[in-house]
Parts: sequence; C-alpha cells; structure tokens
Amino acid sequence: MIYLDHAATTPVDKRVLDAMLPYFCDCFGNPSSIHCCGRQSREAVETAREQIATLIGAASPAEIVFTSGGTEADNLAIFGTVCASKGKGRHIVTSKIEHGAVKQACKKLEHDGYEVTYLGVDGEGRVSPKELEAAIRPDTVLITIMHANNEIGTVQPIPELARIAKLNGIPFHTDAVQTVGKLPICVDALNVDLLSLSGHKIYGPKGIGALYVRKGCRMLPFQTGGEQERGRRGGTHNVPGIVGLGMAAALADAEMEDEAPRLARLRDRLIKQVLERAPTAQLTGSMTHRTPHNAHFTFVGVQGDALVAALDRRGVCASAGSACHSGMGGVSGAVAALGLPPERQEGSLRLTVGKLNDEAQIDQAVVALLESLRDLL
Ligand code: PLP
Repeated sequence: MIYLDHAATTPVDKRVLDAMLPYFCDCFGNPSSIHCCGRQSREAVETAREQIATLIGAASPAEIVFTSGGTEADNLAIFGTVCASKGKGRHIVTSKIEHGAVKQACKKLEHDGYEVTYLGVDGEGRVSPKELEAAIRPDTVLITIMHANNEIGTVQPIPELARIAKLNGIPFHTDAVQTVGKLPICVDALNVDLLSLSGHKIYGPKGIGALYVRKGCRMLPFQTGGEQERGRRGGTHNVPGIVGLGMAAALADAEMEDEAPRLARLRDRLIKQVLERAPTAQLTGSMTHRTPHNAHFTFVGVQGDALVAALDRRGVCASAGSACHSGMGGVSGAVAALGLPPERQEGSLRLTVGKLNDEAQIDQAVVALLESLRDLL
C-alpha cells in the first residue's frame, strides 16, 4: 500500500502513542481534581499546552485552548468571537475556499441574520489583500481566512491579510490545520488573533485539536459546562489525546527543519513526473505558495472519484478532494473557485505526501496513476 493521503489524516507516531499510553490506565486522574491523581494529569495537560505554544510561537501557554479537533477549534473561533462582539456588528469576511468547518459555521450565522462576504481567489487560489480591504465595513466583527487550503495546498498571504484586519481593529482567525507542523508558524509573524490546529494531521491522535486565542481577544465559550480551559471550553479534558497532541507538536518542532524540505522534494518529484507523463494533467494552485506535502492535479475526460477507485485497486490511497467532501459528488469549493473549465473541475486528484513515503513509492505511484488513466481514458 502506498499512502498518499496525508492531508486527510496521518498515522499516530509510535513515540506519540508511547507518551499517551500511561494516561489511559495508570495516570487516569481528572485534571480538575485537586488530589495527587488529578495533579499528575493536570501537569501532563500543562506540559502539552507548553509544547503547542512553543510550536506556534504563542507568548503564553494560557493562549492555547484544547478542543476536540480542527472543526471545533474553527467553530469556537467563529461563534465565540461573533458572540463576544454582538453589540458591534453582524458582518463577517471569509473566503470561498474555506474548509467546511469554517464555511458551514458562516452559513449558520447567515441563517441567524449575520451577513457574510465570501472573497474569491485568483487562478492560484490566493485571496487578494485589496479585495479584503474593500470588503471591510464598519460592522465587520471577524475575518476568517485559512492559512493553506486542504485540497489545492495554496498558502495565503496571511501576514498581509491580518495586517489589514489589525489596522481596522477586527479580530483575524486562520485555520492552520494544514500548515501547523509542516511550515514554521509564529502567531506574531502571521499577525493573527486566533489560529486552529488539529492533532491527526501531525501524527497525533484523532479527536483532539487546539485553538490559539491571543491574550485580550474577546471570545465567549460555545461549549459550556465546567470551568475547564479558563471557562473557554467546558468538558473534562481528553488527557491522553492532549498528551498525544503535545508530543506530536514537540516532534514536529524538532523534525520540521529536515522533514519539510524532504516532503517538498517528494512533492516536486511527483509533480514533475505527472506533468511530464500523464495525458492532460495540469497542476492546480500555486508552485511557489504551496504546502510542502500537497500535489493537486486536474485531468480531462476522467472523473476524480473513478481515478481514486482505480488507484485504490493498484494499492495507492489518494483522494479526489477533501476527505469530508468525498462521496458527496460534484465539484468541491476550492476547485470550483479557481475558475477552471468545467471538464477539468470534474477530474480532480489530490496526492499528499508524508512520513510514510519515499522516492521509490512516488515513482511506483506515478506508474499506477498512468495505468489508471490508461484504463479510464
Ligand atoms: N480545517 C482544515 C483545513 C482541514 O483540512 C480539516 C480536516 O480535514 C479540518 C479543518 C477539520 O479538522 P478535524 O478533522 O480535526 O475536525
């Protein structure tokens, strides 16, 4: 099996699993309990908070809120900030290529009477700072634009976009689920107030994530209950998951310097071979502003889902779009927003590399792709 779907999820790193295991049976205390069992768990949670703060350059671990994943982090950022600024206005700016976790949250707010401006993207999938500037209104209460797209891998000019938000006094959120652990991230350099990340994209467990909330950024909880996470997210902590996320963050921090260029080399090897050898292949997105793990192509005369099935029969795991969109048919948001001809939009293929891959696998996957295309075309 050749796994080329690391943007959908990654396996748990064995070192992450080893760090998590004691927190199921041996160190099982509730971190909110004041006895020794609870204190032991609380220490582990706070260590993980520090590890995540270090990875993203947060000034203080207190700015990290644990969530059940990237989806909840996005929802908390959006609903939490708009609720906190109810008196100020009811307008939000986002992009047309956001992940469903942001897009659906915005749709829900529209349903509740908010107005949302969906910014388009250029041919590479980038949002224009000028268009953002023009979209801002006196009643804009939040700007949310993803750091890199999960399908086409385009990295947005977040420092520029967030600078515009700052000049206008508007909180800026970025969904960095596809970039944390892949690109060096510093929340101050990005200039963001809120940033979402997820464990299972960085060789951590599924069902755990975090939201960075800059000190002073007003946000109300959207999941209430206990006073956990300084009242920002109720519910008993998922201690093993949090420990796993912390370890995954620490490993990413230590290994990114070598791993990111290695992934970029694999990605470029893949892109070069596909463009040279596969009939009708075209690269989607940007070559310069691209995550190191993403290759996304369109083909003419073939359906993306059929191509994914043909690759699967040859032992290659790929995807036609985002994992959440698969099986829904039609063309996904990011590809549609690029303005490609309709016959290309249908023939999307995303191949995302990761720790499991080497050069030999890339070469084998290209052969499998050429054979699959030959069968289908
Ligand atoms: N945002 C982006 C860009 C993603 O790629 C994903 C996962 O596919 C999410 C949010 C959701 O994260 P999670 O699966 O942890 O809820």
